[in-house]
Amino acid sequence: MVFDNSYARLPEIFYQRINPVPVKAPELIRVNHSLAEELGLLLPEADDALAALFSGNTLLDEMEPVAMAYAGHQFGGFVPQLGDGRAVLLGEVLSGAGTRFDIQLKGSGQTQFSRNGDGRSALGPVIREYVVSEAMHAMGLSTSRALAMGKTGEQVLREGYVPGGIFTRVASGLVRVGTFEYFASRDNTTAVKQLADYVIDRHYSSAKNAANPYIDFYRQVCEATAQLIARWMAVGFIHGVMNTDNTSICGETLDYGPCAFMDTYVPAKVFSSIDHGGRYAYNNQPTIAQWNMAALGGCLMSLFDDDADKARAIGEEVLETFIPTFKAQYQDGMCRKLGLVTVDDQGFQRVRDLMELMHQGHVDFTLAFRLLADDIEQFKGLFSESAAIESWFTEWSDQLVEQGENVAAAQERMRLVNPAVIPRNHRVEEAIRAAEDHNDFTLTHRLIDVLKTPYAVQPENEEYMTPPESDEVVHQTFCGT
Ligand code: AMP
Ligand code: MG
Repeated sequence: MVFDNSYARLPEIFYQRINPVPVKAPELIRVNHSLAEELGLLLPEADDALAALFSGNTLLDEMEPVAMAYAGHQFGGFVPQLGDGRAVLLGEVLSGAGTRFDIQLKGSGQTQFSRNGDGRSALGPVIREYVVSEAMHAMGLSTSRALAMGKTGEQVLREGYVPGGIFTRVASGLVRVGTFEYFASRDNTTAVKQLADYVIDRHYSSAKNAANPYIDFYRQVCEATAQLIARWMAVGFIHGVMNTDNTSICGETLDYGPCAFMDTYVPAKVFSSIDHGGRYAYNNQPTIAQWNMAALGGCLMSLFDDDADKARAIGEEVLETFIPTFKAQYQDGMCRKLGLVTVDDQGFQRVRDLMELMHQGHVDFTLAFRLLADDIEQFKGLFSESAAIESWFTEWSDQLVEQGENVAAAQERMRLVNPAVIPRNHRVEEAIRAAEDHNDFTLTHRLIDVLKTPYAVQPENEEYMTPPESDEVVHQTFCGT
């Protein structure tokens, strides 16, 4: 195993050196062996050794655990100090391909950033993060990954006492917009520059060739983030807490909390119990991501130009490209969901019209796109306004023909981009309930397995492809951290 902990070589103000606090009775729930293999990790074979490793009870010699410092805008309000209050970065592994990945334990005990928190995680959110992050990866979205999860043998106090869990995640990097805000809000321009240099070196090395690498770096972060949000939108994903401290500098989905996939298509859909104003609603995600990028731009300003006015103008110019970049990516993604090869306004109008019909008819987002690829009659049957869907269908198929295509070929392409199986909220909840209430992980394992091939129709797992019955619908999700 090749650990090389570059973050721990940064100045001490970037983190606290701290070991995980051992847990009482570690018990493994699942290890992602294929990810371990991808990373070139050589894991111990015995279950108790694995459980000890993935609970932080034993450390490898090469690990240098640190809790990372960061700040963040939470629901728009600035908090100057957040940081890893219940997580530690164990170290970085260099994968076989030479890429560096962070390995972090979540639920590993108190740090200097814990404020009043216990530093632990409840089991439910651990399961949700494992299931959803791996499903996102299988769908081809950029995301942190799940390497392992276990029980701690401890109870944690949330609404009541619940079983404790511990999660091992892997990310391309764990620097957030909030990491830059931590130093910028302290007027520590030296640290902002050190952090920018670190991130450029590690994640955006092509920026080094630009006339001003920091401007190019900022442009690339904006681009990667816009692209990520476009992908979220195309699968109906709602992050739920897009605070700047949960916004990765790498354009990766990070910090799964009260996240959810929409069932019925409702543009302003909110699941999170703490998102009262709908700040992080489905259709608000692009503008909020742009807001987060504005916060990043503010931190980097001093690196853009010595002249403050010029620096601001440069930042704004980059930021203005965010929504156009998002729109181009989104239109491309949505047109592809309809099997259209040429992405143009006319094609995107078909998308808009269909989504309008889905909204009016309370149609399931995932099922609508998938059935159009699999079974046209069933697709049409989802809509109560039969004349409207017939006329939409005619326009869509005419458009394909105009593009020199046909329905069958389009359907084949659509099956590669429209998931048949997503982590539906009621299935995730059902798995969590069985785990927390009955110590039964059968449904958790099954869900994770089913979600490994999201684009395949799985007749033997039909209940994972269908929307919830009315009494199964999950209306709200909780942080539960
Ligand atoms: P998150 O909900 O993961 O985005 O966390 C927001 C902030 O609260 C971060 O600084 C976390 O480290 C901190 N936090 C969340 N839960 C806990 C906990 N149980 N103990 C200590 N800190 C926590
Ligand atoms: Mg967070």
